[in-house]
Amino acid sequence: MSDDPLLRVDDLSVHFGGNEGILDRLLGDDKGVVRAVDDVSLDIGENDVVALVGESGCGKTTLGKAMIGLQRPTSGTVSFRGQDIWKSDLEPGDIPYKEIRKSLQMVHQDAGNSLDPNRTIFKNLNPALKKWRPELNLVERRELVHQMLDTVGLTPADDYASRYPHQLSGGEAQRTVIVRSMLLEPDLILADEAVSALDVSLRVNLMDLLLELQEMFSTSFVFISHNMANARYLAGRADGRIAVMYLGRIVEIGPADEIIKNPQHPYTKSLLWATSGLSEINDPIETPPVRKIDIPDPENPPSGCRFHTRCPEAREYCASNTPDLSGMSGPSDRHEAACFDAHDRIDYRNSDPIADDFDIDVADDTEQPAD
Ligand code: SF4
Repeated sequence: MSDDPLLRVDDLSVHFGGNEGILDRLLGDDKGVVRAVDDVSLDIGENDVVALVGESGCGKTTLGKAMIGLQRPTSGTVSFRGQDIWKSDLEPGDIPYKEIRKSLQMVHQDAGNSLDPNRTIFKNLNPALKKWRPELNLVERRELVHQMLDTVGLTPADDYASRYPHQLSGGEAQRTVIVRSMLLEPDLILADEAVSALDVSLRVNLMDLLLELQEMFSTSFVFISHNMANARYLAGRADGRIAVMYLGRIVEIGPADEIIKNPQHPYTKSLLWATSGLSEINDPIETPPVRKIDIPDPENPPSGCRFHTRCPEAREYCASNTPDLSGMSGPSDRHEAACFDAHDRIDYRNSDPIADDFDIDVADDTEQPAD
């Protein structure tokens, strides 16, 4: 059996806009280019759970879409069980392209908009099933839809199957969209802010459902969230990892408990500080652990470590050198951080602290914790 992980992201970059011609790139003219994702590498195993966290605009959705074949990367590769998904349609490998596409599914945040309002729930779910599982006849497809509606708690299933989307609550619509993905028996589901639009109580129910489905069907999940509490709930209960993104890069990744209780990157610490229910875990402080509140322009990201313009630990060395994501010494060999301070780099220690005004007038605007 191959040692390849379910999904391997290798040096992946996705850039938008600007001068994208080959000559421009050769001349280094990348004015106006937004580096949504920059040199990201990440492995997702079989039956794995990863929560991708970061502020709005950090590139997490773009990375997620590139991982499942919905966004073409500018450079780098995404491999599904060892096969490059972006080459599979042109250069067929052992796994048919169609099989790869079916195996990588997405659940969107806005369930309401992803259902056709003029079709019943069955008619919303049937086309994908018909396309991707042609071996099933209509009776079998109907049976399967009912089974899955039942599994996610939309009972009586025949009643829900005949409803129209406007006859569903927000939580029911989101469950329906989850059913649509699960019907295809995917190996990996990208859930993009799948619970963000729901009330807190419904959110916890839906996260529990996702975890049940993940266990029941051994499906790997990548959960995208701007909320550290949700990430902890999902990744923590599934023995998964949290990956923290900042301006197109993963700056820290590790087991959920390690990231929450032993964060190493100053940006992770600032996210935890701003999350009710999590801020108290590690030496609570009153002021936010950042020098500046505003996120830099992604068209013109800071040199060196991209967090150096906001980082309270930044030194001159950080402004001109880029830290790699590398393993921390500690209880978990899966904990990595991209920070010179965390790795106690001598060049960093020997340089001067960056001293400028702290802008610390910030409000805690995060959502309520999931637990
Ligand atoms: S490398 Fe420097 S600027 Fe970046 S997070 Fe670490 S201490 Fe802060």
